[in-house]
Amino acid sequence: MKILPIPVLSDNYAYVLIDEATNEAGVVDPSEAGPVAAAIKREGVNFTTIINTHHHWDHVGGNKELVQEFPQLKVYGHKRDETRTPCITNMVDEGDTVRIGNLEARFLFIPCHTSGHIAAYFEAEKSVFTGDTLFIAGCGRLFEGTASDMHNNMVTLMQLPDDTRIYCGHEYTVTNLNFALSLEPGNVKLQEKLRWAEELRAKNQPTIPGTVGEEKEINPFVRVDSSELQEHVQQSFPGLALDPVSVLEKTRYLKDNF
Ligand code: ZN
Ligand code: FE
Repeated sequence: MKILPIPVLSDNYAYVLIDEATNEAGVVDPSEAGPVAAAIKREGVNFTTIINTHHHWDHVGGNKELVQEFPQLKVYGHKRDETRTPCITNMVDEGDTVRIGNLEARFLFIPCHTSGHIAAYFEAEKSVFTGDTLFIAGCGRLFEGTASDMHNNMVTLMQLPDDTRIYCGHEYTVTNLNFALSLEPGNVKLQEKLRWAEELRAKNQPTIPGTVGEEKEINPFVRVDSSELQEHVQQSFPGLALDPVSVLEKTRYLKDNF
């Protein structure tokens, strides 16, 4: 699978996915039609599929124009977003699959950022598209779910093999790492990753993909069992219970105000 990250809007990524064996292509989260259509034409591929991780405008904004230009497109989104995702044709749920040529993804239902949020997991390709649920060293805001929901999502995604590559919806890595370091200043992995990310961003290069294994070492919303993180969260919330959901909830609160 060839994966082309397409920078769109101010800090979003759309991803064009190409099955090189059949020349068939899809796109994950086309926020804007123009840059996606340009990539499709440049690659000369048969464009069949849109996958929307969730209904927010910065992930579905290009759907309508793309469907007008490429009428054969099928548009996949969660069934709860039937009325919220423009041009949706295929309503899916946990465990459903999508094919792009010989590539196959399974959908993981990970509601919380929105109630219809999904990830697309290409198991054979060791790649997962996580939208606004899991970012490099961060997670999305809890707009339509609870801290418990988001914790479940982190557990679900961290159960994928450690070498699974993570392609997320936004370039938030440097900010996320700075926040993570405020809670785990002694985490050497975090310090290294921040230096690495800052160098790439200075050259305007993307920091994606991450990996599941690495997130276990750097993501504060995954690392709710870290005693250093817990101590720092407790400085803002004295006496806080240290169960994973309570720690995640307060960590998210601190991030919202970082
Ligand atoms: Zn977004
Ligand atoms: Fe979003």
